[in-house]
Amino acid sequence: MNVHDSEKILGVLDAEGYKATNDPLTAELIILNTCSIRQKAEQKFYSELGRFRALKKKKPGLRIAIAGCIAQQEGMKITRKAPYVDFVFGPQNVHLLTKFLKDNEPHIATEDNPDIALHELPVIRNDRIKAWVTIMYGCNNFCSYCVVPYTRGRERSRPGHAILKEAAGLAESGCREITLLGQNVNSYRSDLDFPGLLREIDKIEGIERIRFVTSHPKDLSDALIDAIAELPMVCEHIHLPLQSGSDAVLQHMNRRYTYKEYREKVEKLRNKVPGIAITSDIIAGFPGETVKDHINTVNALHEIEYDGIFAFNFSPRPDTGAAEMDDSLPQHIKSSRLYEILAVQEKITARKNKSLEGTRQEILVEGKSRAGGKQISGRTRTNKIVTVETSDCTEGTLMNVEIVRARQHSLEGKLPKE
Ligand code: SF4
Repeated sequence: MNVHDSEKILGVLDAEGYKATNDPLTAELIILNTCSIRQKAEQKFYSELGRFRALKKKKPGLRIAIAGCIAQQEGMKITRKAPYVDFVFGPQNVHLLTKFLKDNEPHIATEDNPDIALHELPVIRNDRIKAWVTIMYGCNNFCSYCVVPYTRGRERSRPGHAILKEAAGLAESGCREITLLGQNVNSYRSDLDFPGLLREIDKIEGIERIRFVTSHPKDLSDALIDAIAELPMVCEHIHLPLQSGSDAVLQHMNRRYTYKEYREKVEKLRNKVPGIAITSDIIAGFPGETVKDHINTVNALHEIEYDGIFAFNFSPRPDTGAAEMDDSLPQHIKSSRLYEILAVQEKITARKNKSLEGTRQEILVEGKSRAGGKQISGRTRTNKIVTVETSDCTEGTLMNVEIVRARQHSLEGKLPKE
């Protein structure tokens, strides 16, 4: 979400005649697009910001701006701590950047923007083959650990026609894969609902693959499962964050599903979409998490057998419900639970990857592999990275490969003989 926000910021700047540079010494304007989803990202931001103070001393005309969720959350506190910052704008106010660039006044823009879904911003994308497309902004769910509803505001869906126009434009310019973005795409609603939107995008000529993130399990409907099963362009992968395998913890997290309900949805998905890859997010050491709760999470990993997970220790976020809860679990216990969760999942991922050896997979070629040589890299429809040795490296082509070796985080393929 943040990376795509940066693409929009670049789009707005490009329309104003700015060009990107990777060298802060030559920059006239530096924008830090921040994330506050975890404490660590926030700490990193403040240490990074300090580096620009010296730069501004050397170059007084340099303007420094802070964007993103920390900007939204901290607002004026940032300019109090760092008076050399020229303007601060939250994720709902990127459209105001044009105005800020035109005058030399300091600005703080953290207001709620109910019209955000109606602002069509220019976007500069680095990737020609794959693109993110925002379908909705904000979130209404208020999971107790999450800062997003406070920083990105309430749920607002973009009109279907605007999304379809963007997707058609991307297809025309050679884009092959789009990922629809929203905090909870399952609750997308405009003139279309989310399965309806998928059905329309599926008809666009040139788009070969459609992905989406993120799906809240409570809103995963039968109609959506049917759409994934029926639509040829919709990939067989879903990121469905469980967060915890304990009903008590899920309740404290305000997730509004039980583990049993979640399991039933996974079963439905696997029955209707054979081979679908399922990934998840897990929080270790949520306030009040007992040993039994933790064991339930580990058991859930064994039972569900995800293709991969993102797991983190709980860190309290300002203004959220969980920040008020008793977070007295010692850090070393949180860390050892996280370690166990990651270790269990590593084995499951390795086993699942191994089971793909000898199978044929369609990959979308993304370019040369970072490993160098003649290796190219692409992804399967289930979102697994495959490297293949071949001299044919046309980005954006679909290629059938045979998986010859599974590694921990990727697969090795070869071109089949016939
Ligand atoms: S659904 Fe996602 S974005 Fe919304 S509050 Fe919950 S975790 Fe945060």
